[in-house]
Amino acid sequence: QLHNKMMELGGNIRVFCRVRPIQPVELQSGAAAEAVAFRSNDSQALELVVAEGQKHTFEFDHVFQPSSSQTQVFEQTKALVVSAMDGFKYVGCGNRGQRARSVCIFAYGQTGSGKTHTMEGPAGDRGVNFRAMEELFRVRDERLLSGHIECDMKLSILEVYNETIVDLLDDTQTAEERRVLEVRMGKHGAFVENLMEVEVASTTDVEDLMRLGHSHRSVGGHDFNEHSSRSHLVLSITITSVQKMDGKRATSKLHLIDLAGSERISKTAASGQRLKEAQHINRSLSALGDVIAALGTHSKHVPYRNSKLTFLLQESLSGNSKVLMFVNVSPVAWNAWESLCSLNFAQRCR
Ligand code: ADP
Ligand code: MG
Repeated sequence: QLHNKMMELGGNIRVFCRVRPIQPVELQSGAAAEAVAFRSNDSQALELVVAEGQKHTFEFDHVFQPSSSQTQVFEQTKALVVSAMDGFKYVGCGNRGQRARSVCIFAYGQTGSGKTHTMEGPAGDRGVNFRAMEELFRVRDERLLSGHIECDMKLSILEVYNETIVDLLDDTQTAEERRVLEVRMGKHGAFVENLMEVEVASTTDVEDLMRLGHSHRSVGGHDFNEHSSRSHLVLSITITSVQKMDGKRATSKLHLIDLAGSERISKTAASGQRLKEAQHINRSLSALGDVIAALGTHSKHVPYRNSKLTFLLQESLSGNSKVLMFVNVSPVAWNAWESLCSLNFAQRCR
């Protein structure tokens, strides 16, 4: 309850920093020097030493240390997830139904910093995606029991790669034939045309669909990890609530986004396809930063159209939408420059 209150007061954008543990391979290769330090009794501050005598201090809404568990991370995320179902509290719903509050949760960071671990997590130690769905189903059941509100939930999974949108639930065609989707402006704002949405009733349904989505992800025999670090993965849950008494409806969305790796690619090292990918990633990540920064300052002009990702999320990155940005960071000294870039990006969002 108190936490909820704090979230309200804290505005619509919050940034959590998560520092992953040093990996065994890093220890073996002697890369174990740490660049990151924490302050005792301060769960919001983080210090990064980039070079000798060059220390940067950052503050976020929460800083998760390497010892933080998936459970602890979700504990801080839960209230925000549930707020996606609070549509009735926030909008007066017309009979035709209105869009209620939407929530976007992003994971930002260089490849290997822990984005996928945070969002998806390994089997047996699931991350935000599964825990969020679990929580939504729990709240849905609670409301169903109370007898006032019925909810249904639909899931879509898409990927943005090189500024093209691919529907990962579309298995009617082979990867080569799969349609590229476009964002269109409709009566209720921007939407992805022809995107598949599948009704989900349980976390098992969600796991099955995610498996299907993943199987469609590595295209053209590319290495899966390589490909996944160069594309944005967007899981979107559309929640429709119907008030039984009067049939009033409200729709809201929860988007869970594992962003492409934020690492800078030097123009001299990369060429061809790799350079093109890097340029698309840079452009879309900075467009995202611009949009979130504009939201935070309540700027009149929010530049959604500068990338596919911000364009397709336009309706959920506006007005009373809520945004949570995880900035994932490696603790290792030789990643310090990339960590600095990530932390600067995140600081700007806040
Ligand atoms: P990214 O998606 O940003 O490229 P990953 O999530 O794949 O990074 O993480 C890179 C490696 O570090 C993986 O082997 C992952 O299991 C491990 N890892 C990341 N974060 C954690 C964490 N909080 N606890 C334990 N292992 C982690
Ligand atoms: Mg990943």
